[in-house]
Amino acid sequence: MPTETFEFQVEARQLLQMVIHSIYSNKDVFLRELVSNASDALDKLRLEALRDDSLGADVSDLHVALEADPQARTLTVRDNGIGMSRDEVVRLIGTIANSGTATYLRELKEAGDTAATEGLIGQFGVGFYSSFMVADEVTLLTRRAGESQGTRWMSSGEGTYTVETVDDAPQGTAITLGLKPEDTEDRLHDYTSPWKLREIVKRYSDFITWPIRMATQPAPQADADAGEGADTAPGEPETLNSMKALWARSREEVTDDEYHELYKHISHDWTDPLETIRLQAEGTFEYQALLFIPAHAPQDLFLQGYKRGVQLYVKRVFIMDDCEALMPSYLRFVKGVVDAQDLSLNVSREILQQDRQIQLMHRRLAKKVLSTIKDMMSAAPDRYATFWREFGRVLKEGLLGDVENGDAILGVSSFATTHDKDEPTTLAQYVERMKDGQDHIFYLTGESRQAMESSPHMEAFQARGIEVLLLTDPVDEVWVDTAPEFDGKKFRSVAKGEVDLGTEEEKQEAGTEREKQQEEYAGLLTWMTDRLSDDVKEVRLSSRLTVSPACVVSDTHDVTPALENIYRAMGQ
Ligand code: ADP
Ligand code: MG
Repeated sequence: MPTETFEFQVEARQLLQMVIHSIYSNKDVFLRELVSNASDALDKLRLEALRDDSLGADVSDLHVALEADPQARTLTVRDNGIGMSRDEVVRLIGTIANSGTATYLRELKEAGDTAATEGLIGQFGVGFYSSFMVADEVTLLTRRAGESQGTRWMSSGEGTYTVETVDDAPQGTAITLGLKPEDTEDRLHDYTSPWKLREIVKRYSDFITWPIRMATQPAPQADADAGEGADTAPGEPETLNSMKALWARSREEVTDDEYHELYKHISHDWTDPLETIRLQAEGTFEYQALLFIPAHAPQDLFLQGYKRGVQLYVKRVFIMDDCEALMPSYLRFVKGVVDAQDLSLNVSREILQQDRQIQLMHRRLAKKVLSTIKDMMSAAPDRYATFWREFGRVLKEGLLGDVENGDAILGVSSFATTHDKDEPTTLAQYVERMKDGQDHIFYLTGESRQAMESSPHMEAFQARGIEVLLLTDPVDEVWVDTAPEFDGKKFRSVAKGEVDLGTEEEKQEAGTEREKQQEEYAGLLTWMTDRLSDDVKEVRLSSRLTVSPACVVSDTHDVTPALENIYRAMGQ
């Protein structure tokens, strides 16, 4: 097939321009991204070879190699992993699959200044494209395991790339960067210097479980007299990373930065996580977990098909991504690694779903994440606030399915409240502020704070200074009906049924008063109930209004209008 020229997809083109023209302060991370991709490719090949004997790929020496050529000013990152077919190259390298990209790019354009741009690059992550931060020409040569022909992809990052089929590519992928001339002068950015490469790999990729090797340069030749010097083989390649699994090392031995780099490798995120969680389980079923709570929610968190779950390793060997059996769906934002000692390397997703040990692990991990959030609430309120802003809506889904942890979830939840316009409240804080004689936690659900504040249902509560939670998330409609109580207090909608406010005395007084009024207005009420019978069940006197003449109320067990909308949307 002849060389074909393709145009980058629009989003990819914009992203490339941004990467090329951004002065990202830390260009070194391009190597982290390429090594991370190489490591993934090695994981994939190992697994595929395990499943498919006929693949015929050599997996005896899987590794990443760095080859620097100071004369030609190139750096090559080579792996003998799974490789890519021609179609895959066009699909994976020329386009961006992430559905949130367009939004990000718009924000980037609007952001303008560098700090904001960096922040957004950080949030989005640019993976392979980060090569263009340091290179003005990138060549990718790849051959997929099991295929006979290879593919060469080339681009200078300016809107187009070329693809050609080649006959003699080694299996795996080699990415060669033609380094930008401006970096050549600068020792700090000399990506052909062995010490620079050593430093970057140590800093960002030390824990990668495959060896990252660098060919040692042949010593500068002394008088090439005896003829032998000319073909002296370079010395033994040097392995730059320690390959030690961070989760298997003791807490004191590992720095926060190292944990964060592992997080970035597995999450493909460029920003540090909000929280790192470690767990070591000893005993009959031994495992280690290293989990992370990200600092921001991904764009597709609420889309169908969002991949949840953490990576599963068995005895330090990568087994699968997105292991959903290990995390409940309402904790689908948690990233990390679980390494189990006593599972088979061939374990499948189906087997995991059935396995009792895995179910116990799942429970324990969920509890650990919830208790970490609880600690964060008291120890780091700012970080907790970020957590809640990003993930509160997801976490509350747990109130629907996870009966066992319902209390714990309510305990770490926050809600908008009439008590404070800006700051949400926890339920513990709400309970502390409850009035004498108040035995319910009152709430109202609705579309917006504004609409709820001016709702006639609120009048009596406002008049008496009773705090009401203002719930606006769709999921709130559902859990309030199922979550029975917090700290012994039942949840009660201010828009449903009869609400009795006030002390016992007040109630008695009101009771006699009410009876009188009831007699007085009996005729009117019957007449109104009769006239309005198409629309309402009953017209009754109310103690809930102070200003408005009338309001519509649901029965305690009726569905609210918003819930009606949800059911309707679900086609019920
Ligand atoms: P991400 O790693 O977040 O998916 P990248 O831009 O880093 O995004 O890479 C895009 C895709 O290209 C990868 O998901 C992978 O499928 C493919 N890819 C990149 N580098 C390699 C490689 N060295 N070997 C095989 N496939 C690769
Ligand atoms: Mg990547």
